Amino acid sequence: MRSLPCFCRGQVVRGFGRGSKDLGIPTANFPESVVDNLPADISTGIYYGWARMDNGDIHKMVMSIGWNPYYKNTKKSMETHVIHTFKEDFYGQILSVAMVGYIRPERGFKSLDELIAAIHSDIEEAKIKLDLPEHLKLKEQHFFKTPVSTTANQILNGHRL
Ligand code: ADP
Ligand code: MG
Repeated sequence: MRSLPCFCRGQVVRGFGRGSKDLGIPTANFPESVVDNLPADISTGIYYGWARMDNGDIHKMVMSIGWNPYYKNTKKSMETHVIHTFKEDFYGQILSVAMVGYIRPERGFKSLDELIAAIHSDIEEAKIKLDLPEHLKLKEQHFFKTPVSTTANQILNGHRL
């Protein structure tokens, strides 16, 4: 995918409450404005990369880009699971992500257990891949150094190197 790494930034909005948090895998949702401006060659599926809430630390993440059942699958959604335990929710904060690599396409699962197992395996793959020097160096990008505020830099998509 030519558009990787892909840098996106936007405010965390409420999802459609599919209870990801209950599964132990909360996913922070980007608003439509970010999803609608994704580069055309970014396909649906599971990605790994780096994430930062507001001006906080940079963490590993996995992201699912998929069809949003709430909109009868006519709209895409982008959901980021940050591989870190936070004390509190961060709805309304600015999430900055660098999508770095692609793990797998979207797929169906026979059971919830099978889905959870797949996500855990995605998380393990992301953790290992992101330790590669070429991925680690993306944490040093200007993108992650600039302070974000809730009034500026709210929406950003694209290839910025
Ligand atoms: P929603 O349907 O509103 O997206 P989720 O059950 O997917 O609800 O939970 C997502 C919310 O959980 C995020 O918007 C964020 O505020 C919070 N959260 C807490 N820890 C994490 C994490 N490690 N990764 C992603 N979101 C997290
Ligand atoms: Mg979610």
